[in-house]
Amino acid sequence: MPKSKTVYEECDVLVVGGGMAGTGATFEARHWGRDLKIICVEKANIDRSGAVAQGLYAINCYMGMQWNENQPEDHVRYARNDLMGLVREDLGYDMARHVDSTVHMFDEWGLPMMKNKETGRYQREGKWQIMIHGESYKPIVAEAAKKSADKIYNRIMVTHLLMDETKENRVGGAVGFNMRTGDYHVFRSKTVIVAAGGASHIFKPRAVGEGMGRTWYAPWSNGSAYALPIAAGAKMTQMENRIVLCRFKDGYGPVGAYFLHLKTYTQNANGENYEKKWYNQTKELVGEYIDHHPTPTCLRNHAFVQEVMSGNGPIHMVTKEAFQDPHLETVGWENFLGMTVGQAVVWASQNIDPKYTNPELTTSEPYVMGSHATCSGAWVSGPEDISPPEYFWGYNRMTTVEGLFGAGDTVGGSAHKFSSGSFTEGRLAAKAAVKYIEEQKAKDLKVSDKQCEDFREVIYKPLDNYTIGRNEITGGTVSPSYISPIQGLQRLQKIMDEYVGGISVNYMTNENLLKKGLELLDWLTEDLENVGAEDYHQLMRAWELKHRTLTSQCVTEHTLFRKETRWPGYYYRGDYMKLDDENWHCLTVSRRDPKTGKFTMEKQPVYHIIDEKEKKQAS
Ligand SMILES: Cc1cc2nc3c(=O)[nH]c(=O)nc-3n(C[C@H](O)[C@H](O)[C@H](O)COP(=O)(O)OP(=O)(O)OC[C@H]3O[C@@H](n4cnc5c(N)ncnc54)[C@H](O)[C@@H]3O)c2cc1C
Repeated sequence: MPKSKTVYEECDVLVVGGGMAGTGATFEARHWGRDLKIICVEKANIDRSGAVAQGLYAINCYMGMQWNENQPEDHVRYARNDLMGLVREDLGYDMARHVDSTVHMFDEWGLPMMKNKETGRYQREGKWQIMIHGESYKPIVAEAAKKSADKIYNRIMVTHLLMDETKENRVGGAVGFNMRTGDYHVFRSKTVIVAAGGASHIFKPRAVGEGMGRTWYAPWSNGSAYALPIAAGAKMTQMENRIVLCRFKDGYGPVGAYFLHLKTYTQNANGENYEKKWYNQTKELVGEYIDHHPTPTCLRNHAFVQEVMSGNGPIHMVTKEAFQDPHLETVGWENFLGMTVGQAVVWASQNIDPKYTNPELTTSEPYVMGSHATCSGAWVSGPEDISPPEYFWGYNRMTTVEGLFGAGDTVGGSAHKFSSGSFTEGRLAAKAAVKYIEEQKAKDLKVSDKQCEDFREVIYKPLDNYTIGRNEITGGTVSPSYISPIQGLQRLQKIMDEYVGGISVNYMTNENLLKKGLELLDWLTEDLENVGAEDYHQLMRAWELKHRTLTSQCVTEHTLFRKETRWPGYYYRGDYMKLDDENWHCLTVSRRDPKTGKFTMEKQPVYHIIDEKEKKQAS
């Protein structure tokens, strides 16, 4: 146990993670809670943290209601279609009706927005996307959070939630440690908003060894957003809906601007349009969903994966035509310089000039997130005005643990929020958290010193494991008594890859594989009691691994439960290859019992609120 000090804080609103949703939550908590004590805790530094750390080139969710470009209902239909029918429409609608106001604030705060010279409106990249010069996006939203919070703590990894000891199933704060000083931090808080991003590196990545950090999703996002609520007994939803991305090979540079703005297109190695080749086969699997417009993201992946498996790869993006236009050529390169500079570096290193060579595309390893073309995450209450009883329990975006809220990637069921929608969801969660406090729902909270001390022991144990175990090192880093975080991570990735549908099996799994995967994950969990950390940075790695493992268990349980292939191209259940609307047009919900560690699964109804509302109005 280190001799570091313990730092205590008491507050009203504790925001865990200062990314897009966390900065939105911190900002909005101050708006409604003028006199409240608001703290934001971040694993990195909020100026450059989370998925937007490097900047973005487009805000992917903007309705444009002021110009009647789109309405929130349209966005719900869009997200529903892309997710093969299964979204929480109350959450999506609630986000969409508020997202424009968020974007207008970004504009006021100085985010450089591109404007259409003819109309004066924001420059559209696609129906939902608007273009920005977004290198400074994250520092700008961080500024708003810094001005709003009583205190921002950087470099602290939150590892556990504290629970109230007077009332069961009520949150009481969180604990973590500073990975630079090693100090132990205790935050007793009336409410907690978890906004800790998604999960990369739970499945074996395509880039291994020296290229291991090269993933599409932020490599530092480790599933705390899921592990924290799961460990506290909160219900989760759609965790099987992991996402696979089709991106430029090796650098994972974005393709959105290429498709939408540059009008580039894809073809196989023989120069053929391969997507239509797979139409009949896909129709056999998913029925009329293949006829929807736009084609759902997973189904486009499906055609890609099938084409490569049939021996016609690699797949290329045809850039040679668009790049003859100097303006489009500039946009193509700037697109990377503003958000994924690594792609430009990869092309330079491989001598690829997209003006003369069509670059290769690839499908990524799977990731878990709740804000993109996917909606894994916590099962939360919706807003009171539109949510049906099954979706509403008092406070918007509150999980099934009282006082524990979620936003952004943390929240399940509400896809296509992206950066602006995640910030907006943070705002919605914070507003509800303040209301929860004002309505005295956090009265008489008790978090004993013993609870905090017990967690302290648990958190620093990997340091002890190393200090004792290193005496037995037999050679190099090999010790009979502990495993290092990197060894544990590679073991996790291998299990998830081979048994739960990763890249090496072309995203294929089945009941036998999933059951075996769960067994291996149990043993890994047991062995992680012996993970060793030689310094505070490795201690962070150890806890990241534990959070990734718990997230993986939940993903596997969900994948086993849903007996159909709802999203071919994201993953396949080989034993149930067809989409089965009769039995599985529903949301899957899990809960892990914090005492036994066992998961229970249930189905929850999908309500198509938007069109039902309109049908009622028409009749
Ligand atoms: C590669 C990529 C490209 C994208 N492109 C676009 C785009 O072009 N346009 C667009 O609008 N959106 C885009 N998005 C989506 C957008 O980035 C996300 O929707 C958004 O960042 C989600 O917000 P969040 O707050 O949930 O997560 P994040 O913004 O990732 O924030 C999570 C924060 O939590 C912190 N954290 C994690 N664990 C802990 C812990 N245990 N303790 C304390 N802090 C912790 C992290 O350090 C991070 O700061 C993209 C996402 C990715 C991954």
